[in-house]
Amino acid sequence: ALTSADLIKMFRALSERIEAEKGFLCELDGHIGDADHGIAMAQGFGAVARALDALDPAAISPTDVFNTAAKSFLNAVGASSGPLYATAFMRAGAAFKGKDAIAADEAPAIIEAMARGIQDRGKAEPGDKTMIDAWQPAAVAAAAGREAGKPAAEVFAAARKAAEEGAAATAGMVASKGRSSRLGERSLGHVDPGAASAAIVVAVMAESLA
Ligand code: ADP
Ligand code: MG
Ligand code: MG
Repeated sequence: ALTSADLIKMFRALSERIEAEKGFLCELDGHIGDADHGIAMAQGFGAVARALDALDPAAISPTDVFNTAAKSFLNAVGASSGPLYATAFMRAGAAFKGKDAIAADEAPAIIEAMARGIQDRGKAEPGDKTMIDAWQPAAVAAAAGREAGKPAAEVFAAARKAAEEGAAATAGMVASKGRSSRLGERSLGHVDPGAASAAIVVAVMAESLA
């Protein structure tokens, strides 16, 4: 089962990987946005990692870990990804309320809860060329594998693949939500930065939790 300590380790891994991809994500956002997406995500996950480092994992629940992540991410990030990820973490926390640990085969539900939170908050649909184009297929793959009773490692691997394919597919989409929607047809041919970072987040979660 996954404990609060495991989730804190996951957030630390996320912070490190996003920090390493900061330049790449800013570059993607430079093509169709305002070039700050890597900075926003690195600030958000950096703040989460610092807030969690200050807590005693033995004294807090998985729900507390996600709620702390939500609050820190929201406070640290002024860009549109701030409230989207904050809502995602709140939903993940709510999904495991009252539990001391998350059963291994339930862990992919984290991805499902995060995707629902982002969709409820941002109201983007698949095809709008946003992070939902990575999160939604990842959640569909996670739910299908989990409901079929597949081992968590296999389910996470499928979710990761779906997120990566979903992110790549945004290059062929015209943006209709968020800042890049102002570009219309000129957004074609560029991968959406939020979808690219979502694929990285799902990949790190798969590596860290499965
Ligand atoms: P900002 O556009 O405020 O600078 P970021 O650069 O951090 O914010 O994030 C941009 C990303 O946010 C986009 O690439 C897109 O994936 C995502 N995004 C924007 N609006 C929405 C929305 N309504 N729903 C889901 N994702 C969105
Ligand atoms: Mg931006
Ligand atoms: Mg911005």
